[in-house]
Amino acid sequence: MSQLTEEDRAALREKYLEERDKRLRADGNEQYLEPTGQFAHYLDDPYVAVEEREPVTDEVTVAFVGGGFAGLVTGARLKQAGIDDVRIIEKGGDFGGTWYWNRYPGAQCDTAALIYLPLLEETGHIPTEKYTHAPEILEHCRRIGSHFDLYDNALLSTEVTDLEWDDVACRWIIRTNRGDEMRAKFVAIGTGPLHRPKLPGIPGIDTFAGHSFHTSRWDYDYTGGDPAGGLMDRLADKRVGIIGTGATSVQAIPHLARACGELFVFQRTPSSIDIRNNHPIDPAWFASLEPGWQEEWLMNFTTLQTGGFTDEDLVMDGWTDISQRIRDRTIENGDLTPEGFLAAYHESDDEKMNEIRSRVDEIVKDQATAAALKPWYRQLCKRPCFHDEYLQAFNNPATTLVDTDGRGVESIDETGVTAGGTHYDLDCLIYASGFEVGTTYQRRSGFDVTGVDGVKLSDRWADGMRTLHGIHVHGFPNAFVVSPTQAANLISNVPHNLVEAGATIAKVIRHAIDNDAAEVEVTAAAEDAWIEKLQAGGRTFGGAPDCTPGYYNNEGQDRGPAGLLNSLGYPDGPVAYFAYIKEWRESGAFEGLEFR
Ligand code: NDP
Repeated sequence: MSQLTEEDRAALREKYLEERDKRLRADGNEQYLEPTGQFAHYLDDPYVAVEEREPVTDEVTVAFVGGGFAGLVTGARLKQAGIDDVRIIEKGGDFGGTWYWNRYPGAQCDTAALIYLPLLEETGHIPTEKYTHAPEILEHCRRIGSHFDLYDNALLSTEVTDLEWDDVACRWIIRTNRGDEMRAKFVAIGTGPLHRPKLPGIPGIDTFAGHSFHTSRWDYDYTGGDPAGGLMDRLADKRVGIIGTGATSVQAIPHLARACGELFVFQRTPSSIDIRNNHPIDPAWFASLEPGWQEEWLMNFTTLQTGGFTDEDLVMDGWTDISQRIRDRTIENGDLTPEGFLAAYHESDDEKMNEIRSRVDEIVKDQATAAALKPWYRQLCKRPCFHDEYLQAFNNPATTLVDTDGRGVESIDETGVTAGGTHYDLDCLIYASGFEVGTTYQRRSGFDVTGVDGVKLSDRWADGMRTLHGIHVHGFPNAFVVSPTQAANLISNVPHNLVEAGATIAKVIRHAIDNDAAEVEVTAAAEDAWIEKLQAGGRTFGGAPDCTPGYYNNEGQDRGPAGLLNSLGYPDGPVAYFAYIKEWRESGAFEGLEFR
């Protein structure tokens, strides 16, 4: 039973609301700036020099927009299905997607490598540690690319600007920023939900005369060091500021604290920092895993993470811990109704967050700093973080936490940053301000898609995303979307969603080719029925309205009908969805699709 009294819990709820209210802003997502115009340089690729090439005007069977895990796993499944003519078009200079861009020091995946890294059995890679660091993940992306011969036909450093359906030729026309105008019988889009960096709309941001960059474009030429964690020796005599304390900043700060002459961390809301407990993977143990192990591990994790039962917890991490606590408390309380589940969630969360806050006191020596680093919200209101060096970094005398008590940085000028009425002179300012999430599809992806009768996808989805399985859109034949939304919507292990979507798309395209179908399209009725089913189930991703604002809860603003559609998942949860979609594609009936 809970150690907390009802009064304790009521006091916590009151404190949470008080802290949320400090942070609610009328401008919501609009508080952020898009990196366009004078800010466009924040998007430049610091990792490769773009080489000149002639525009491409040929035709391929399948073109895939995006060379991250979505493109790679779909490409792999297409190759496995015997479809060789696959072209991945990628804005970055190599495959990797988020792991291509995010090379900031300390970058690491919070989901265990054995389930996060797709196609481990197919490629034979043995992860070196339980939670792999970014360079190994990027290397694994390259490994998938090489293993499945996806490099041969790829167009890298190439940004799609426009996709247009040619109704007469039954082909997609793909235009890019390199002057390409190629054709494809099928297109798929996997541009990722966290793909476009955003900047804080702080007054004076355009005036800073020192050096600045966004964490997803880390400037090692300026800082020294490397993505593997080498000391950033060029910061030794620098005063560096970092704005933001989300999952990215939590991983980068221990490295900055070690390297900077002085480091100022500008905090609006503290992250929750649970124990990391990373360890190397023993190759001898790994060799003992039976063929088919990855599928078993994936389902074991997903089952436990979504409140189900298994004989053992194979992954044993912070994600499965949270959900098993809630599950076990529900059973202990003997109330299996939705209200009983919610009460059990709140009880176990209150305890968990008290543990997290106590951990801050145990680690951080300065009491005022410790107090400011304590998160006052439910753990799943924001992305939970796990780290064993972040809180410790604030014991470094060269590191200063500038807590803004929920208000954020006041202003930026030529020489630095003002927060809480104090001006901080800075040589370098790093924006750890996150990515576009709850905004419109076009704003997030950077291009539009024109389907049958000239209908734009941005218009079709103006009132929210509408698909079958998150993949097929009526009016957009031979086009496929790869994303977790309107499907399993498993946020704790995103690649699992993508592997399943990739397998499904490969089956559909194989079937279309085998049956000489010029077009495959979801019927309007099937799309409507799917949306109705998802809406009736009401299973959405996102923090509750009483959560502190952030991208999990649309910055605390009503998501409206469109926002709800954009965050819907399968009513019976990810485990049921994965079983359902496997049966759907294996049956060969492809119910809801029309091949013609
Ligand atoms: P986030 O959106 O999580 O964080 C942005 C940060 O900027 C927040 O702390 C925000 O404060 C702060 N901020 C914004 N505006 C201001 C302002 N005006 N003044 C001061 N602070 C401000 O971005 P991240 O890049 O950290 O993470 C994005 C996502 O990427 C994660 O949630 C996670 O899904 C993924 N990720 C995963 C990792 C992993 O697997 N380990 C590692 C890194 C990222 P506030 O909270 O108050 O809004």
